[in-house]
Amino acid sequence: MADSPATAPDAAPRTPITLADCEICSRLSDYESAFEKYADPSATRSWPPEGDRLAPVPEGPGAPTNHGFRRCPVCGMFYAWDYTYEYLANGSEDEWTLTRLTPGEARKFLSDAEYAARIARQQAEAASPEARNRHYAAQCLTVDGVLRASAEPASGFLRSGDEALRKGALAAARRIVDHDAYHAGLTPLAPALRELLDAKDAADASMARYVLRWSKPG
Ligand SMILES: [Zn+2]
Repeated sequence: MADSPATAPDAAPRTPITLADCEICSRLSDYESAFEKYADPSATRSWPPEGDRLAPVPEGPGAPTNHGFRRCPVCGMFYAWDYTYEYLANGSEDEWTLTRLTPGEARKFLSDAEYAARIARQQAEAASPEARNRHYAAQCLTVDGVLRASAEPASGFLRSGDEALRKGALAAARRIVDHDAYHAGLTPLAPALRELLDAKDAADASMARYVLRWSKPG
């Protein structure tokens, strides 16, 4: 097992690979899910095959069996993995989800040096010609800023005319409130979020409203 890169605890690659260039992560959305309902195969939503190429992150004894983390063996990206089972008389339901994480959300698995290197790389990726890389960079840098209770760079992303940066920052803020409502680090983003309430893009306005509802007033 020790020889297998798929199960090595430190599966980080030596050469940085961007999201768009990773043969696994480029084929996975920020959020993936699979669903099975017993006695109703038509309701099945299948798991992306790349999801099975991610390596479980060892968490030691006592770790929950319905929640854990996965890591990409190619680029070192972290994902949260969750499983839910619901017993229903007309056919029980199983659901699996995979959520791509930023370095800040996977902080406990990264050394200070590795975290700093990943954030520095994402600062460069925020100007990438690939929209996907900018979208992910905005998520990474927004979470990093929120952890430091800093208004920037997320406020700049939220005010950006670049949809990839704006929607990346909104997606990250949304994940933070879903995970940790009233996180104090979101308060500095309130002015930029309020400006989006009247946005022409209805999805942006509704996401900003949602994040503000679950943020402390700023
Ligand atoms: Zn990857």
